[in-house]
Amino acid sequence: MAENLERLKQRVPLLEYLQRHNWKPCRTGSRQEFVGLCPLHQETQPSFYVNAAKNLFYCHGCGRGGDLIRFVQLFLDLPFRQTVAHLEQELLPDPVFRLLEETAAFYQLQLHRHPEATDYLERRGVHDSSLIEELGIGYAPGGNLRRHLAAWGSSFDQLLEIGLINHHGRDAFCRRLIFPCRQNGQIANLYGRSIGAAFPHRLLPRSKGGLFAWESLSRFSTVILVEGLFDLAGLWQAGFRNTTCALGARLTPAQWAQLTDQPSRLIYIAFDRDSNQAGQKASHQLALRLENAGLPAHIVPLPDGHDPNSYFVAGARGADFTARLREADRL
Ligand SMILES: [Zn+2]
Repeated sequence: MAENLERLKQRVPLLEYLQRHNWKPCRTGSRQEFVGLCPLHQETQPSFYVNAAKNLFYCHGCGRGGDLIRFVQLFLDLPFRQTVAHLEQELLPDPVFRLLEETAAFYQLQLHRHPEATDYLERRGVHDSSLIEELGIGYAPGGNLRRHLAAWGSSFDQLLEIGLINHHGRDAFCRRLIFPCRQNGQIANLYGRSIGAAFPHRLLPRSKGGLFAWESLSRFSTVILVEGLFDLAGLWQAGFRNTTCALGARLTPAQWAQLTDQPSRLIYIAFDRDSNQAGQKASHQLALRLENAGLPAHIVPLPDGHDPNSYFVAGARGADFTARLREADRL
């Protein structure tokens, strides 16, 4: 294990990794030392130091430091083991990405063969067939993914490691609707939404990627941020194409960096109005954090107990949501 980690760190020097992810040193210290803004916290004065010879970083602002694996762990908000798996996959991307593409295409074909899946989409108010196609929504009926992928030369161990099957060889996404989450054109993860109550929702054990569909959104000066992909589907269907999703109420540092890369961007937060106040609390924390970073943020006041998806399912129309946005401006 320790040997593998050393080899991994040698294969991708920390500085190279940072630069590959758009970090720019603004000055060079002594030999082999680079200083820039910290990608892990918000700052205006550079306090993030990278020692290229030692392959280590340290930030005097947030007090965090370490090696490549530590950095990726903090940047993507992943546990240690998943960070190592993520880095290994990032280094050997082709076979894994090809498998994810093949898996998503397979699930997409299954969608219209299984009425329980299309009925569920209908119940969640998603009926626009071109949108379903555009989002690449699929369905995992269970039982046949492994056989299908074996024809593509993938091994049991490989599928298990990626998280597509479980130890019994069964489809890990069984009875879930699947949304492929893309980043720079490649599938970063698959989000599975259970159509029953028995199974939890799941993502593959790898980075959840950036903000959903961010490449198509970054041109908008106003962005609506939601928690879930069904919220996003409902809003896109109603014409709010400037909606993105963080797959949860907590943004990873990578998603935060995307959301805040334009200081003039106006952000509407439309999280769930939960009875336990979790969504409201998360919205307030995020709005405050955005304001501290100099970005105007508004919380969209949905009726109690609703999220954007259930709001539309309950009969709201685009004009109703627009009225909520106007109300948010006044809050
Ligand atoms: Zn820092």
